[in-house]
Amino acid sequence: MRKDSFPKFKALLKKTEQIAILAHWSPDGDAMGSCLALSQFLTALGKKCKVIVPNAYPEFLYWLPGNKQVLNFETDANKVSKALQKADLIFTLDFNSLKRIESLGELVSKAKAPKVMIDHHQQPEDYAAYYFHDVKACSTCELVYDFIVGLGQKKLINAKIAACLYTGLMTDTGSFKFPSVSAKTHAILAELLKTGIQPSEIHSHVYDSYSYDRLRLLGYALSEKLVVLKDHPVAYFLITEKELEQFDYQKGDLEGIVNYPFSIKGIKVCALFNETKDYIKVSFRSKGTIDVNKFARAYFNGGGHVNAAGGRSDISLSKTEELFLNTIKTLF
Ligand code: 5GP
Ligand code: MN
Repeated sequence: MRKDSFPKFKALLKKTEQIAILAHWSPDGDAMGSCLALSQFLTALGKKCKVIVPNAYPEFLYWLPGNKQVLNFETDANKVSKALQKADLIFTLDFNSLKRIESLGELVSKAKAPKVMIDHHQQPEDYAAYYFHDVKACSTCELVYDFIVGLGQKKLINAKIAACLYTGLMTDTGSFKFPSVSAKTHAILAELLKTGIQPSEIHSHVYDSYSYDRLRLLGYALSEKLVVLKDHPVAYFLITEKELEQFDYQKGDLEGIVNYPFSIKGIKVCALFNETKDYIKVSFRSKGTIDVNKFARAYFNGGGHVNAAGGRSDISLSKTEELFLNTIKTLF
């Protein structure tokens, strides 16, 4: 674990005026929750903040406080470029490698401002001047909470910041059920609830806002596309772009689907391979000590956590399946 001392960082923050805060490619609840919470916290400290995403994120996160101020590099490249040039400090949240922000990575490495990584993924790369990094944290939102408390500013956590943090804690832990959940996670949640946020409302915003088509896509995936292996405790989906179009696919519609096969007794690894315009998106989930981070790094150009990792494949869907079936034994 690499954690820089707060006094040193406090001094730097004092001199800082303009801050850019970056999320990873295809931001999820933890990425957006942590960026928007940090932005509102630093704004309360009197800083000028810009939250930047490399590309769009799902609509079920648009309700998050501060959502309107987010700059998308794909649609607002000039504003993003200016914000990075002007920044005195650049926070990178919920990712561990500049590869995870695609072409935006080049602009970030060129920017003169020191970088601060707040993250919980395995094998952080060496691009930052400051690291608030802990693979044991259940989410980046947990680390942002620690960061605010570490700076002695817990009193600044209002309901808006709490709602953002709660969202990341909830989405990155499968609603508080993954092994990454600790007594500390629940202690933080209790503190967040004291600001008056309603967990049931946040849950509803995130999980009860899908379309009819998305529910039908889930049904189709489960009944028509799920493959359960005989030789290994593995289940996976392969989904083509055409099939996604059939269900009027919107960003975020596949979120969470990879986990469903765990409800089959004995399944220890789940995978989802879906075509996108440019490549095959790969998602892995595992139980216990089965390390899908290592597996994703070795064969699918990716990474993540021991029990949840992603990657990509630049060969066809059927060749990707072949690669998966030929390499799966290395997991056991
Ligand atoms: P998901 O399967 O939900 O896209 O991602 C699971 C985890 O793996 C997340 O923590 C995510 O940040 C990470 N991840 C997803 N895709 C990639 C990738 O292409 N490269 C790396 N290094 N990590 C990824
Ligand atoms: Mn995360």
